[in-house]
This record gives sequence, C-alpha cells and structure tokens, in this order.
Amino acid sequence: MRTDVFIAGGGVGGLTLAAKLASRGVHVTIAEQLTKESPVYKGELLQPKTIAILERLGVIDEIEGCGHVIDQLRFQEIHRREGKSPEEINLTELNYSRVASKYDHALMVPHERTKSIIRDKGQTFEEHFHYLGGARFLGFEKGMAKVKQKKETFHIEAKVYIGAEGRSSPTRKAMNADVKRKDYNHHFLTVTMPRPASYTKGKIITTADRFLGLFPLPDNEVRTVYLIKAGEYKTIKEKGLEYLYQAYSELEPELSEGVRTIDDWKKVQLMIPYTYHVDKYYSGNLAIIGDAAHTVHPMAGEGMNLAVQDADVLGELLAWCKENNKNYHEHLHYYEDVRKPRVSSLLHLSHLSALVYSFRFEWWRKIRMRAVQRIYDDDQLHVKQMLNISGLGSWNFNLLDRAIQGSVLPARSKKIKDKTQWKYLFSESEDYPWEKEN
Ligand SMILES: Cc1cc2nc3c(=O)[nH]c(=O)nc-3n(C[C@H](O)[C@H](O)[C@H](O)COP(=O)(O)OP(=O)(O)OC[C@H]3O[C@@H](n4cnc5c(N)ncnc54)[C@H](O)[C@@H]3O)c2cc1C
Repeated sequence: MRTDVFIAGGGVGGLTLAAKLASRGVHVTIAEQLTKESPVYKGELLQPKTIAILERLGVIDEIEGCGHVIDQLRFQEIHRREGKSPEEINLTELNYSRVASKYDHALMVPHERTKSIIRDKGQTFEEHFHYLGGARFLGFEKGMAKVKQKKETFHIEAKVYIGAEGRSSPTRKAMNADVKRKDYNHHFLTVTMPRPASYTKGKIITTADRFLGLFPLPDNEVRTVYLIKAGEYKTIKEKGLEYLYQAYSELEPELSEGVRTIDDWKKVQLMIPYTYHVDKYYSGNLAIIGDAAHTVHPMAGEGMNLAVQDADVLGELLAWCKENNKNYHEHLHYYEDVRKPRVSSLLHLSHLSALVYSFRFEWWRKIRMRAVQRIYDDDQLHVKQMLNISGLGSWNFNLLDRAIQGSVLPARSKKIKDKTQWKYLFSESEDYPWEKEN
C-alpha cells in the first residue's frame, strides 16, 4: 500500500493532521489500533488557539454545538467546616476576555466527541483520507510502516511517517529520541457527574490540603478533578465512596447531590501526572506530534491543545510541500523550529501551576492565595497568563512580574491596551515561517 503521509495513531493529534492534509489534497493513511471509543478519560478543555484551528478546519459549528463555554476560571480558597457549608476566604477570577482576540473563551467538549467530529470531517475528503480502524502500527521494516489489522500484517510505504501514538510511541523509539520523565508528589481522581444548570463557571476550590477542580460540560454535567497524595488511591478506595461524597460535599455543597450518583469506583479514574519533552521532533522522514513528543502536567489543561497545535503546524507545512513540489523531509525542521520553543514554555507554565498546588501547608496556601490574587489585580500579569495559556501568543513573565506576583512590589494600576498585546499574538508568518521561501 502506498500513501503520501502515514500517521500512526488516530487520537486528537493524528486525526487533526489527517483531516487537514486530506482537505489540502495530500493522500494520508492513518492507522488506529482501537475499533471503538476509548473508555479512558482524556482532556476536554479546548483553548482559544485550538478553537481557531478547528474553525479553519471547518468544524467550528459542530464543536460549538456540543461545547460548554468557559470564559472565566474562578479560584476559591475556603476553610472546610465539617457538616457545615465552607467559609470562603478568597475568590479570584481570571478572564479569557483579557486576550485581545475574537477567540476570547475556551470550550469544554467531551474528548471522543471532538475526535469523531474531526474524523467525520476527514472522511468527507474520501479520495485522500484513508482511515484504518483496529490497525496497530508495529514499527518499521524495510523502510516501510508495518501494520497489523485483524490477522493480517502488511506494509505501508509513505514519503513521510508521523508518530501520533501518544505516550508510548514506536515512531519515537525508531527516531532514538531521548525522553526524561518527571513525576509529581500528587495524583488526581477524575470523574464526571451531574451539575445544577446554574453551575456554569470553571472553578478551582482549595484549602491548605485539598484541591477540587470543576469544569462544566454540556448536558448539565461537570468534569471534576480531585487531588490526592501519590500512592493514596488504594487507601481512599478502601474507605468507600462515602469518603468521596463527603470530601466533595464539604468543598462544594452544590455538588453534594451530583456526587452521590457515582455508585461505582469503576467510574472514577486515577490520573497520574508526569511530564517529558523529547530532544527532537523529527529525524529523516519521521516526525512525532502530541503526546508522542511531550506530555504536560494537566493543571493548565494543555495536553490535547498542544497535540492539535502541533498537527496544525505540521499539516500546513506538509500541505505546502506537496503544493509547491518541495521535498517533505528537507523541510521538517520548520515544524520543530516553531513548535518546540512554544511547547517548552507551556510545559514550564503548567509545571509552575502544578507546584502552586503541590504543598499542603497553611503558609504555602497564603503565598498561593496572594500570588493568584495578584494575577487578577495586575493587568499585565492577567494578560500574560491568559495569552500564554490560550496558545494565541506568547509574552514571557520577567523578574519585575514575578516580584509583583510575589508581593515584593505593588501591583501596577495600568491597563494593558489591545494594541500593546497584538505584537505578542502569533502572526501567520510566525506560525508558518516556510511560506516566505516562495
Ligand atoms: C488521564 C488523562 C487526563 C488528561 N487530561 C487532560 C486535560 O484536562 N486537558 C488536556 O488538554 N489534556 C489532557 N490530557 C492529555 C491529553 O489527553 C493528551 O495530551 C492528548 O490526548 C494527546 O493527543 P495525542 O493525539 O497526541 O495522543 P492520544 O490522545 O493518546 O492518541 C493516541 C492514539 O494512538 C493510538 N495508538 C497508540 N499506539 C498505537 C499503535 N502502535 N498503532 C496504532 N494506534 C496506536 C491510541 O489508541 C490513541 O487513539 C489528559 C491525558 C490523560 C491520560
């Protein structure tokens, strides 16, 4: 079998790449080992840049039709009171609207829904989109991809091979890419449950030693993420579901009914955060995208977004190569040049966000509370934080910013003008720099 581009892995990254390529007349073959929806929870928060990419792919109406808008993230610090409603000691909010762009919100969309919308889009370009379900990529043999589907094993010859297999990637292995994994002192329990219709804002509720993240989904559901100590899962499970009911109700009484609909630990997923970033994104005519190349701490809700954003840049590059009769592998460096520094900076940002919630001391909570409040009080910090997580641009924090955030210096009263911000938004020539070669 022959194709222009072979993609191993039909997750959100592989599918976005495949749909984009097929829409531009590049013949693509994608091998996905699963035959049906994955039961494993994966990210649901689509950041503004991802929404822009999905709009360009022509699927924004479908995505918005099954998404819940998140325009604001609330950070609530409370004192827990057994058997009583918690006492609020601080409430801060961060607003996507501080980003000077029409993409001024995020969307919560069930992961498998996002995938099926993108896959359906790809399938509309049937001449160029070749999807192999239940097909496992085994590695390379004689310079070709070796794939097993049902009992049959066959080879696929392509001009370029893309690894989008997620955390365990045979393509990354074939590239000899270096992976150094970093672990954390905490894990998460995650489960979706019903929410009251009026409960619409993203919210992180914390005490000195507890953390509950709440992200509303459509259909009056809410994705919940509860932080536990690394290794504590078994002990918590032994305590029974009543432990979970009580823990959630004490932190967010509005969910005390919803949490009681969880009647089996099988519905609760353990999430073990860790990070890595490979030393190279391509080698010869092989390249990797998404979790095959980097895994990010889930705190900033970026993993899925990085995969889609990798796919966008690589897809535009490969389509341009095809349209301009350029050799694919001679131009793959552009993909790494654009994506690697952006991913590094988001990995760092997510790591810092994780540290903020990693220590269970009252004094640490006081520092955190002030630091988060400062982001809201100082407009430049607010704009930088939201711009960076949105993926639409990059404006680095400097020493002065950190001194203000750490309350060493007072917050600035100056509002950041949209015009000031525009120069930090990524332009088309920064996203797709090879186009100047023409
Ligand atoms: C528990 C958990 C929670 C997360 N929470 C968030 C979050 O809140 N926000 C966020 O943005 N991100 C989150 N992420 C991260 C996000 O899910 C990933 O970053 C994103 O799915 C990466 O997309 P991908 O396409 O690179 O890989 P994946 O989504 O992992 O897709 C890889 C695909 O390749 C297939 N595959 C693997 N090996 C082979 C093979 N040999 N042959 C053929 N097919 C193969 C797999 O079946 C899978 O379909 C979370 C991840 C996990 C595991």
